[in-house]
Amino acid sequence: MKKVLVAGGAGYIGSHTCLALKNHGYEPVVLDNLSEGHEWLVQFGPFEHGDIGDSEFVGEVIAKHGIKDILFFAAFTYVGVSVTDPEPYFENNVSKMHDFLAVCKKTGIENFIFSSSCATYGNPITVPLTEDHPQNPVSTYGDTKLMGEKMLKWYGQAYGMKHVALRYFNACGASHIGTIGESHNIETHLIPIILKTLLGQRNHVSVFGTDYDTPDGTCIRDYIHVDDLANAHVKALEYLENGGESTQINLGTGTGYSVKEIINAVEQVTGHPVPVRFEERRAGDPPVLYANPQKSREVLGWIPTHSDLHNIIQSAWNWELKQSQTKV
Ligand code: UDP
Repeated sequence: MKKVLVAGGAGYIGSHTCLALKNHGYEPVVLDNLSEGHEWLVQFGPFEHGDIGDSEFVGEVIAKHGIKDILFFAAFTYVGVSVTDPEPYFENNVSKMHDFLAVCKKTGIENFIFSSSCATYGNPITVPLTEDHPQNPVSTYGDTKLMGEKMLKWYGQAYGMKHVALRYFNACGASHIGTIGESHNIETHLIPIILKTLLGQRNHVSVFGTDYDTPDGTCIRDYIHVDDLANAHVKALEYLENGGESTQINLGTGTGYSVKEIINAVEQVTGHPVPVRFEERRAGDPPVLYANPQKSREVLGWIPTHSDLHNIIQSAWNWELKQSQTKV
Protein backbone atom coordinates (compact mmCIF):
# COMPACT_ATOMS: atom_id res chain seq x y z
CA MET A 1 0.00 0.00 0.00
CA LYS A 2 1.37 3.42 -0.95
CA LYS A 3 1.75 5.76 2.01
CA VAL A 4 0.65 9.37 1.66
CA LEU A 5 0.96 12.12 4.28
CA VAL A 6 -2.26 13.82 5.36
CA ALA A 7 -1.41 17.05 7.21
CA GLY A 8 -4.44 18.02 9.27
CA GLY A 9 -5.86 14.52 8.84
CA ALA A 10 -7.43 14.53 12.33
CA GLY A 11 -9.92 17.18 11.23
CA TYR A 12 -13.30 16.97 9.58
CA ILE A 13 -12.49 16.89 5.84
CA GLY A 14 -9.08 15.32 6.49
CA SER A 15 -10.53 12.33 8.34
CA HIS A 16 -13.10 11.69 5.61
CA THR A 17 -10.34 11.89 3.02
CA CYS A 18 -8.29 9.34 4.98
CA LEU A 19 -11.25 6.97 4.74
CA ALA A 20 -11.51 7.56 0.98
CA LEU A 21 -7.74 7.07 0.56
CA LYS A 22 -7.86 3.78 2.46
CA ASN A 23 -10.81 2.62 0.35
CA HIS A 24 -8.71 3.33 -2.76
CA GLY A 25 -5.66 1.38 -1.64
CA TYR A 26 -3.52 4.11 -0.01
CA GLU A 27 -2.24 4.16 3.57
CA PRO A 28 -2.93 7.62 5.01
CA VAL A 29 -0.32 8.78 7.56
CA VAL A 30 -1.88 11.58 9.61
CA LEU A 31 0.23 14.51 10.84
CA ASP A 32 -1.78 16.78 13.14
CA ASN A 33 -1.15 18.95 16.20
CA LEU A 34 -4.73 18.36 17.45
CA SER A 35 -5.33 22.10 17.85
CA GLU A 36 -8.59 21.69 15.93
CA GLY A 37 -8.59 17.96 15.15
CA HIS A 38 -9.21 14.96 17.38
CA GLU A 39 -7.15 11.81 17.83
CA TRP A 40 -10.34 9.72 17.75
CA LEU A 41 -10.86 10.84 14.15
CA VAL A 42 -7.58 9.13 13.16
CA GLN A 43 -8.93 5.68 12.27
CA PHE A 44 -7.45 4.69 8.94
CA GLY A 45 -3.67 4.74 9.31
CA PRO A 46 -0.74 5.76 11.53
CA PHE A 47 -0.77 8.98 13.56
CA GLU A 48 2.16 11.39 13.94
CA HIS A 49 1.37 14.02 16.56
CA GLY A 50 3.09 17.32 15.80
CA ASP A 51 2.99 20.69 14.12
CA ILE A 52 3.31 21.56 10.42
CA GLY A 53 5.63 24.40 11.49
CA ASP A 54 8.05 22.02 13.24
CA SER A 55 10.39 21.47 10.28
CA GLU A 56 12.58 18.88 11.97
CA PHE A 57 9.56 16.78 12.95
CA VAL A 58 7.95 17.08 9.49
CA GLY A 59 11.23 16.04 7.84
CA GLU A 60 11.51 13.01 10.12
CA VAL A 61 7.92 11.90 9.40
CA ILE A 62 8.44 12.22 5.63
CA ALA A 63 11.66 10.19 5.79
CA LYS A 64 10.28 7.55 8.19
CA HIS A 65 7.28 6.76 5.95
CA GLY A 66 8.96 7.29 2.56
CA ILE A 67 6.45 9.99 1.61
CA LYS A 68 6.26 11.46 -1.91
CA ASP A 69 2.68 12.78 -1.82
CA ILE A 70 1.05 15.27 0.55
CA LEU A 71 -2.59 16.11 1.17
CA PHE A 72 -2.67 19.36 3.12
CA PHE A 73 -5.67 20.24 5.29
CA ALA A 74 -3.86 21.88 8.22
CA ALA A 75 -5.41 25.33 8.47
CA PHE A 76 -7.69 27.55 10.49
CA THR A 77 -10.97 27.86 8.62
CA TYR A 78 -13.42 30.26 10.26
CA VAL A 79 -14.24 33.11 7.88
CA GLY A 80 -15.76 35.46 10.49
CA VAL A 81 -13.09 34.83 13.16
CA SER A 82 -10.32 35.35 10.61
CA VAL A 83 -11.51 38.93 10.09
CA THR A 84 -11.74 39.84 13.77
CA ASP A 85 -8.52 37.99 14.73
CA PRO A 86 -6.23 37.62 11.68
CA GLU A 87 -2.95 36.93 13.47
CA PRO A 88 -3.31 33.15 13.96
CA TYR A 89 -4.56 32.88 10.38
CA PHE A 90 -1.40 34.38 8.92
CA GLU A 91 0.77 32.44 11.36
CA ASN A 92 -0.78 29.05 10.69
CA ASN A 93 -2.13 29.22 7.15
CA VAL A 94 0.73 31.20 5.62
CA SER A 95 3.87 31.22 7.78
CA LYS A 96 3.74 27.61 8.97
CA MET A 97 2.51 26.41 5.60
CA HIS A 98 5.60 27.99 4.10
CA ASP A 99 7.84 26.25 6.64
CA PHE A 100 6.13 23.00 5.63
CA LEU A 101 6.65 23.68 1.92
CA ALA A 102 10.34 24.32 2.49
CA VAL A 103 10.62 20.83 4.00
CA CYS A 104 8.68 19.41 1.03
CA LYS A 105 11.20 21.00 -1.29
CA LYS A 106 14.14 19.66 0.69
CA THR A 107 12.75 16.12 0.85
CA GLY A 108 11.72 15.91 -2.82
CA ILE A 109 7.94 15.74 -2.40
CA GLU A 110 6.40 15.22 -5.85
CA ASN A 111 2.66 15.86 -5.47
CA PHE A 112 0.74 18.23 -3.19
CA ILE A 113 -3.07 18.36 -2.87
CA PHE A 114 -4.06 21.64 -1.23
CA SER A 115 -7.30 22.55 0.56
CA SER A 116 -8.16 25.88 -0.97
CA SER A 117 -11.49 27.63 -0.91
CA CYS A 118 -14.16 29.47 -2.84
CA ALA A 119 -13.39 32.25 -0.30
CA THR A 120 -10.42 33.09 -2.56
CA TYR A 121 -12.84 34.62 -5.08
CA GLY A 122 -14.31 37.28 -2.78
CA ASN A 123 -17.49 38.97 -3.96
CA PRO A 124 -18.32 37.33 -7.29
CA ILE A 125 -18.63 39.42 -10.42
CA THR A 126 -20.49 36.55 -12.10
CA VAL A 127 -21.90 33.24 -10.87
CA PRO A 128 -21.57 30.32 -11.22
CA LEU A 129 -17.88 30.73 -10.40
CA THR A 130 -15.37 29.36 -12.84
CA GLU A 131 -11.74 28.86 -11.87
CA ASP A 132 -10.59 31.84 -13.95
CA HIS A 133 -12.86 34.26 -12.05
CA PRO A 134 -10.70 37.03 -10.47
CA GLN A 135 -9.55 36.24 -6.94
CA ASN A 136 -10.09 39.18 -4.58
CA PRO A 137 -10.84 37.75 -1.12
CA VAL A 138 -12.99 39.71 1.34
CA SER A 139 -11.80 37.79 4.41
CA THR A 140 -8.42 37.12 5.98
CA TYR A 141 -9.16 33.42 5.63
CA GLY A 142 -9.70 33.79 1.88
CA ASP A 143 -6.50 35.79 1.54
CA THR A 144 -4.46 33.18 3.43
CA LYS A 145 -5.78 30.46 1.13
CA LEU A 146 -4.93 32.55 -1.92
CA MET A 147 -1.40 32.99 -0.54
CA GLY A 148 -1.21 29.21 -0.17
CA GLU A 149 -2.13 28.82 -3.83
CA LYS A 150 0.50 31.37 -4.82
CA MET A 151 3.24 29.73 -2.77
CA LEU A 152 2.44 26.44 -4.50
CA LYS A 153 2.49 28.07 -7.91
CA TRP A 154 5.92 29.64 -7.44
CA TYR A 155 7.37 26.58 -5.72
CA GLY A 156 6.11 24.41 -8.56
CA GLN A 157 7.58 26.69 -11.19
CA ALA A 158 10.97 26.91 -9.49
CA TYR A 159 11.37 23.48 -7.86
CA GLY A 160 9.08 21.18 -9.84
CA MET A 161 6.65 20.04 -7.13
CA LYS A 162 3.20 19.59 -8.70
CA HIS A 163 -0.03 20.55 -6.98
CA VAL A 164 -3.80 20.60 -7.28
CA ALA A 165 -5.52 23.38 -5.35
CA LEU A 166 -9.06 22.26 -4.59
CA ARG A 167 -11.35 25.22 -4.01
CA TYR A 168 -14.02 23.87 -1.70
CA PHE A 169 -17.45 25.33 -1.51
CA ASN A 170 -19.37 24.53 1.73
CA ALA A 171 -18.38 21.17 3.21
CA CYS A 172 -21.08 19.45 5.23
CA GLY A 173 -22.64 16.08 6.10
CA ALA A 174 -20.98 13.01 7.60
CA SER A 175 -19.88 9.60 6.42
CA HIS A 176 -22.42 6.78 6.65
CA ILE A 177 -19.88 4.67 8.58
CA GLY A 178 -20.94 6.65 11.64
CA THR A 179 -17.56 7.02 13.39
CA ILE A 180 -16.38 10.26 11.78
CA GLY A 181 -18.12 13.62 11.33
CA GLU A 182 -17.92 17.34 12.00
CA SER A 183 -16.72 18.15 15.52
CA HIS A 184 -15.25 21.63 15.90
CA ASN A 185 -14.21 23.10 19.23
CA ILE A 186 -16.08 26.27 18.33
CA GLU A 187 -18.83 25.63 15.81
CA THR A 188 -19.51 28.46 13.34
CA HIS A 189 -20.93 26.54 10.38
CA LEU A 190 -24.58 26.83 9.49
CA ILE A 191 -25.84 23.24 9.26
CA PRO A 192 -24.26 21.92 12.50
CA ILE A 193 -25.40 25.07 14.31
CA ILE A 194 -29.01 24.50 13.22
CA LEU A 195 -28.86 20.83 14.26
CA LYS A 196 -27.24 21.60 17.62
CA THR A 197 -30.03 24.11 18.23
CA LEU A 198 -32.61 21.39 17.64
CA LEU A 199 -30.78 19.25 20.18
CA GLY A 200 -31.05 22.02 22.78
CA GLN A 201 -27.33 22.82 22.75
CA ARG A 202 -28.08 26.38 21.57
CA ASN A 203 -31.09 28.63 22.08
CA HIS A 204 -31.61 29.77 18.52
CA VAL A 205 -30.03 30.11 15.07
CA SER A 206 -28.80 33.59 14.17
CA VAL A 207 -29.35 34.36 10.50
CA PHE A 208 -26.55 36.74 9.56
CA GLY A 209 -28.04 39.32 7.21
CA THR A 210 -31.46 39.44 5.55
CA ASP A 211 -30.80 42.40 3.23
CA TYR A 212 -28.49 40.77 0.70
CA ASP A 213 -29.29 41.14 -2.98
CA THR A 214 -30.66 37.59 -3.22
CA PRO A 215 -34.26 36.36 -3.75
CA ASP A 216 -34.98 35.98 0.01
CA GLY A 217 -32.30 38.40 1.28
CA THR A 218 -30.07 35.74 2.86
CA CYS A 219 -26.70 34.48 1.62
CA ILE A 220 -26.50 31.73 -0.97
CA ARG A 221 -23.92 28.94 -0.76
CA ASP A 222 -23.10 25.68 -2.56
CA TYR A 223 -23.29 22.83 -0.01
CA ILE A 224 -21.18 19.77 -0.83
CA HIS A 225 -21.15 16.47 1.07
CA VAL A 226 -17.81 15.76 2.74
CA ASP A 227 -17.67 12.25 1.22
CA ASP A 228 -17.83 13.80 -2.24
CA LEU A 229 -15.03 16.21 -1.29
CA ALA A 230 -12.99 13.31 0.07
CA ASN A 231 -13.34 11.33 -3.17
CA ALA A 232 -12.24 14.37 -5.17
CA HIS A 233 -8.94 14.37 -3.24
CA VAL A 234 -8.24 10.80 -4.27
CA LYS A 235 -9.03 11.68 -7.87
CA ALA A 236 -6.77 14.74 -7.70
CA LEU A 237 -3.92 12.62 -6.38
CA GLU A 238 -4.43 10.01 -9.10
CA TYR A 239 -4.53 12.81 -11.67
CA LEU A 240 -1.07 14.06 -10.62
CA GLU A 241 0.31 10.52 -10.33
CA ASN A 242 -0.83 9.90 -13.91
CA GLY A 243 1.18 12.88 -15.17
CA GLY A 244 -1.37 15.68 -14.82
CA GLU A 245 -0.10 19.25 -14.61
CA SER A 246 -0.62 21.57 -11.63
CA THR A 247 -4.08 23.10 -11.61
CA GLN A 248 -6.85 24.67 -9.53
CA ILE A 249 -10.32 23.12 -9.37
CA ASN A 250 -13.66 24.12 -7.84
CA LEU A 251 -15.39 21.48 -5.75
CA GLY A 252 -19.07 22.32 -5.62
CA THR A 253 -22.35 20.99 -6.92
CA GLY A 254 -23.30 23.98 -9.06
CA THR A 255 -26.50 24.58 -7.05
CA GLY A 256 -26.86 27.34 -4.47
CA TYR A 257 -29.18 27.41 -1.43
CA SER A 258 -29.99 30.41 0.75
CA VAL A 259 -29.68 30.34 4.54
CA LYS A 260 -33.48 30.35 4.77
CA GLU A 261 -33.72 27.44 2.32
CA ILE A 262 -31.28 25.44 4.44
CA ILE A 263 -33.33 26.13 7.56
CA ASN A 264 -36.51 25.02 5.76
CA ALA A 265 -34.82 21.85 4.50
CA VAL A 266 -33.65 21.00 8.03
CA GLU A 267 -37.20 21.45 9.31
CA GLN A 268 -38.44 19.06 6.61
CA VAL A 269 -35.79 16.39 7.23
CA THR A 270 -35.95 16.45 11.02
CA GLY A 271 -39.61 17.36 11.50
CA HIS A 272 -38.66 20.03 14.08
CA PRO A 273 -39.23 23.79 13.82
CA VAL A 274 -35.99 25.82 14.01
CA PRO A 275 -35.97 28.84 16.37
CA VAL A 276 -34.48 31.70 14.36
CA ARG A 277 -33.30 35.26 15.04
CA PHE A 278 -32.54 37.64 12.22
CA GLU A 279 -29.34 39.57 12.85
CA GLU A 280 -26.75 41.83 11.23
CA ARG A 281 -24.49 40.66 8.43
CA ARG A 282 -21.35 38.73 9.46
CA ALA A 283 -18.01 40.25 8.43
CA GLY A 284 -16.37 38.69 5.38
CA ASP A 285 -19.46 37.03 3.84
CA PRO A 286 -19.98 37.40 0.06
CA PRO A 287 -23.72 37.36 -0.82
CA VAL A 288 -23.64 34.50 -3.34
CA LEU A 289 -21.15 31.69 -3.93
CA TYR A 290 -21.78 28.66 -6.09
CA ALA A 291 -19.55 26.72 -8.40
CA ASN A 292 -19.41 25.98 -12.04
CA PRO A 293 -18.38 22.31 -11.62
CA GLN A 294 -17.43 21.71 -15.26
CA LYS A 295 -13.66 21.64 -14.73
CA SER A 296 -13.94 19.12 -11.87
CA ARG A 297 -15.85 16.83 -14.22
CA GLU A 298 -13.52 17.27 -17.18
CA VAL A 299 -10.17 17.12 -15.38
CA LEU A 300 -10.92 14.77 -12.49
CA GLY A 301 -13.98 12.90 -13.77
CA TRP A 302 -15.58 13.82 -10.43
CA ILE A 303 -19.34 13.86 -10.03
CA PRO A 304 -20.86 14.39 -6.57
CA THR A 305 -23.10 11.45 -5.63
CA HIS A 306 -23.83 12.22 -1.95
CA SER A 307 -24.71 15.91 -2.16
CA ASP A 308 -28.48 15.88 -2.49
CA LEU A 309 -29.47 18.45 0.18
CA HIS A 310 -31.74 16.06 2.08
CA ASN A 311 -29.02 13.41 2.12
CA ILE A 312 -26.52 15.96 3.44
CA ILE A 313 -28.84 17.06 6.23
CA GLN A 314 -29.94 13.53 7.13
CA SER A 315 -26.31 12.36 7.42
CA ALA A 316 -25.36 15.41 9.51
CA TRP A 317 -28.45 14.89 11.70
CA ASN A 318 -27.57 11.20 12.26
CA TRP A 319 -24.09 12.31 13.31
CA GLU A 320 -25.26 15.05 15.67
CA LEU A 321 -27.80 12.69 17.28
CA LYS A 322 -25.07 10.11 17.83
CA GLN A 323 -22.68 12.71 19.23
CA SER A 324 -25.28 14.05 21.64
CA GLN A 325 -26.05 10.54 22.88
CA THR A 326 -22.34 9.82 23.41
CA LYS A 327 -21.93 13.00 25.44
CA VAL A 328 -24.89 12.27 27.78
N1 UDP B 1 -24.68 31.61 8.74
C1 UDP B 1 -25.76 32.11 9.49
N2 UDP B 1 -25.82 31.77 10.81
C2 UDP B 1 -24.89 30.97 11.43
C3 UDP B 1 -23.82 30.48 10.65
C4 UDP B 1 -23.75 30.82 9.31
O1 UDP B 1 -26.61 32.84 8.97
O2 UDP B 1 -25.01 30.74 12.64
C5 UDP B 1 -24.60 31.95 7.32
C6 UDP B 1 -23.29 32.64 6.96
O3 UDP B 1 -23.41 34.03 7.14
C7 UDP B 1 -23.14 32.23 5.50
C8 UDP B 1 -23.77 30.84 5.44
O4 UDP B 1 -24.60 30.74 6.60
O5 UDP B 1 -23.89 33.08 4.67
C9 UDP B 1 -22.75 29.73 5.48
O6 UDP B 1 -21.86 30.00 6.54
P1 UDP B 1 -20.85 28.92 7.10
O7 UDP B 1 -20.15 29.54 8.28
O8 UDP B 1 -21.56 27.63 7.32
O9 UDP B 1 -19.84 28.68 5.91
P2 UDP B 1 -18.92 29.71 5.08
O10 UDP B 1 -19.72 30.06 3.86
O11 UDP B 1 -18.61 30.87 5.95
O12 UDP B 1 -17.70 28.91 4.75
